[in-house]
Order: sequence, then structure tokens, then C-alpha cells
Amino acid sequence: MAQVEIKYTKLFINNEWVDAVSKKTFTTISPQDETVITEVAEADKADVDTAVAAAKKAFHRYSQWRTMNASQRGRLLLKLADIIERDANYLAELETLDCGKPVKQARLEVFWSSGILRYYAGKADKILGNTIPADGDVLTFTLKEPVGVCGQILPWNYPIPMLIWKISPALAAGCTVVVKPAEQTPLTALAIAALTREAGFPDGVINVVPGFGPTAGSALTCHPDVDKIAFTGSTEVGHIVMTSASAVNLKRVTLELGGKSPLVIFNDADVEKAAEIAHKAAFANAGQCCIAATRTFVQSGIYDKFVSKASELAKNRTVGNPFDDIQQGPQIDKEMLEKILKFIEAGKKGGAKCVAGGERLGKIGYFIQPTVFADVLDDMKIAKEEIFGPVQSILKFETFEEVVDRANDSNYGLGAGVITNDINIALAFVKHVRAGSTWVNTYEHITPQTPFGGFKESGIGRELGEEGILQYVENKTVTINLPKQCL
Ligand code: NAD
Repeated sequence: MAQVEIKYTKLFINNEWVDAVSKKTFTTISPQDETVITEVAEADKADVDTAVAAAKKAFHRYSQWRTMNASQRGRLLLKLADIIERDANYLAELETLDCGKPVKQARLEVFWSSGILRYYAGKADKILGNTIPADGDVLTFTLKEPVGVCGQILPWNYPIPMLIWKISPALAAGCTVVVKPAEQTPLTALAIAALTREAGFPDGVINVVPGFGPTAGSALTCHPDVDKIAFTGSTEVGHIVMTSASAVNLKRVTLELGGKSPLVIFNDADVEKAAEIAHKAAFANAGQCCIAATRTFVQSGIYDKFVSKASELAKNRTVGNPFDDIQQGPQIDKEMLEKILKFIEAGKKGGAKCVAGGERLGKIGYFIQPTVFADVLDDMKIAKEEIFGPVQSILKFETFEEVVDRANDSNYGLGAGVITNDINIALAFVKHVRAGSTWVNTYEHITPQTPFGGFKESGIGRELGEEGILQYVENKTVTINLPKQCL
């Protein structure tokens, strides 16, 4: 295990490090060897109240933050991007320690995140309203104003990118934030909180309160002084968040939730290349990816060849110590390990053919063999439910119309991909599939400029791109009476 210095374990409120009011702490566990990494202050309702009060004060109309030029907000975001990159190696190692992803991947995610900061830095002084040719003797225009105090609740699968996806547009728009990282992975959010102070964000603009969902998370979603909740996590908790966000006041809500995304491969595809795209689409981040393409539909003409290639790729996938040069680290925790192994058992018992993996790897650490099931049918548990682990399900199809219906036969609608050389098939698929992000001959290509989010139970609203920042502004219409004539 690499030695990574842990500098911050307290709550970050009003630009200061504080203990929880209750003095409680919780442990964060290494997924690689199951040892305790450290104790972290555990926020509860009282701490969330303090953090929200700080964020509210920072949002006051005469505060330093509210009176700052929009271009200066952009400069602060640029500075943050620079110092995050300065500390890229440290942040990547800390991320790997806390969540077990390969350190090489964690480093790429740091740079991907600084790109998002820079994208929104550029947007800070370009949030434009409209002039409107309204009826009557009036001059009418709209102002886009920050929504206010935002509660942002994060998952554990991409701790740094998820933090940056959320804070960048909020800060560019002029909001203040209270962030609750996932209880499994609080460390990098705290390290980046320290960098926001170094960058020069005023007191109370950014607050980070690690803790658990039903306590700290729920205190945020119920808080009367929180104007908006942005949540990424499971669809199950998304329902709870949406309900509690409307209980006391009517918070604006954006939700990025689960998926069961289809990747459809037609007979004319290059099988080798298609299998590689499908492999990455299913196994990236040890399958702990909301848009993981976990339903691989393959047309009958290339099915057998594809299954054999997919199985070979999974068997050759390197799994192990995430600080080494491997492709796959451990799953996040014991609960997920057990949940995924149960899905694998359900796949075997349900009649799917396990052609690679299918077992836990080793006895220490939450490692699972990259697993491929062939001959999966639509009504099998592994084809219907989100597994969130390294499990690829391959399903056979015959015709275009059949596969579009089957791809859409899900409560989810996050991602979808198609692999073909026929432009008509590709465009028809993109048109008819019900998903927030669609890809042709690639998968998981997500950039700062492209909106991301789900149809159906995969979420509400979009993050990234122009649409991402619009989720953090209110529209104010200004109508001014104009005399017909000035004498
Ligand atoms: P989770 O829903 O269990 O937890 C997510 C966050 O919500 C955590 O911070 C947790 O503490 C908090 N939370 C839990 N209960 C809460 C409550 N009652 N009130 C307020 N907050 C609460 O999800 P997870 O296990 O951390 O993440 C995995 C899930 O996230 C998967 O389903 C995955 O598909 C989804 N995900 C979606 C996207 C996306 O962009 N659509 C991205 C990443 C992950």
C-alpha cells in the first residue's frame, strides 16, 4: 500500500476546518486491503445548519462574492484549475487510496476535472439574458441570476470529477455551495476544499460536510435555506431526495441517477474493434459507472465471434493493486462486493452462460473477476437491474426494430451506443433510442462541452455544457414602461 499523506479530515465550513458539533467521526476504509485509512469528522444536521448559514451569508447581496465581477469569479476558477493540476499526483494517489481506482486513471480524471473548471471559468461572464420584443410600450429583457445556496450530494464512483461537475457551474453562476461527499470517499473533496481556500474563494462560498446520507444528506435536502439540490447517486435515493426537496420549500432539483445502458452492435461492424469498445464500455472503473454499457446487444451474424472475443478481453484484463499499472482495482466496499457477487450468482442460476470470470478474486480487498455472461435474456435479473460492477451481459438480436424496442425496454435512459458502418442504421438508432447521451462507433465520450444526464428514471436536468450552467440560474424578467414620446 502506498503511503499517502492525509492532511484534512475535518469539516470545511466558512473557509475553516472544524470538528463536528457532536465530535463524532467515521472511518474510511481501503477497498484494496480493508484496513482503516483514517477517521473523518461526521457532519450531522447541526453542522449542515452551520454550513448552510455560512453559504447563505456568503450569498448576501452585499457580500464579497455577490459584488465580485463575474470575470473575477472566472479567474478564481482558473486559479483553482491550475493548483489542482499542480497537485495532480497527490490528488490522484489520495483518490486511489480512498476508492481503489487505478492511479493512472485517477490522474487522468484530475486533468479532466481541471478542464471542466476552465470551461465554466470562461462561462462566468457570458451568462446572457435576452431582449424581448414584448407587446405594449415597454422595454423587456431578462437577467440570469444565481439560484442561491446549493446543496450538492456526491457519489463515490468518481469523487473528484463529480465534485468538479457540481461546483464549477454553480460557482461560475455566482451561487454558494454546501457539498456532501459520499461517506465512502470523503478525502479528495476535503483536499480540494483546501485548494479552494488557497485559490482565494471568499468565506462561506464553498463548504464541505462529509457524513452519511440519511443524516447529513437529508439535512441538506430538507433545509429551508437551501435553494437547489444537485444529486448524483442511485435512482432509489433520487426518489427520496426529490420528495424531501419539496417538503419544506420547493428546491430546484437536478438528479443524475442510475442506468442500464444498451450498446448495440450490428453485423457489419469490425468484431475485434466492436468487442474492444464494448469491453471498455462495460468494465471502465470496475463497472462502477452510471453509463456502463451493461447490455451488449449483438446481431446474430457476428454473435459467436463477438462472444469469444469479449470473453478473451475480460480474461486478459489485469486486476490488482490500484497503485500498480493495472486496468481494474477493487470494488468500493464490502456491501457492493456482496451485492455484485449475488448478481453473478443470479446470472448463473438464471440460465445465462458465464464465459469469463464469475468469482471473487482473492480473500482480502474487494476484487472481482471481470465477468462476461452470454445468452442473456431480457427478463433476467442481470439484464434488468443496475449491477454497478464488472459484469457484461451479451444479448443476441436479429433485426433493427426488435433491438430498438428491447434497448428502450428499461426504466432507465442514461446512455446508449451503436456500432455499425451504415449511417442510416446509426442515425435511425440515435433518433429512436430513449437516452440522454448516445454514441456512434464509440462510447463514454464525455467532454466539458457536452450536456450529460438521463431520460426516464436516470435523472432530471443536465450537467456539463451550456445546459449545465443554466441549472444554476433563475430567469428574471424586467419590463420597463416607456413613454410613447419624450417631449
Ligand atoms: P447512493 O444513492 O447510495 O448515494 C449517493 C449519495 O447520496 C451519497 O453521498 C449518500 O450519502 C447520499 N444519500 C444517501 N441517502 C440519502 C438521503 N436519504 N438523503 C440525501 N442523501 C443521501 O449512491 P452511490 O451508491 O453512492 O452511487 C452509486 C449510484 O450512483 C449508482 O446507481 C449510479 O448509477 C449512480 N451514479 C449516477 C451518475 C450519473 O451521472 N447519472 C454518476 C455516478 C453515479
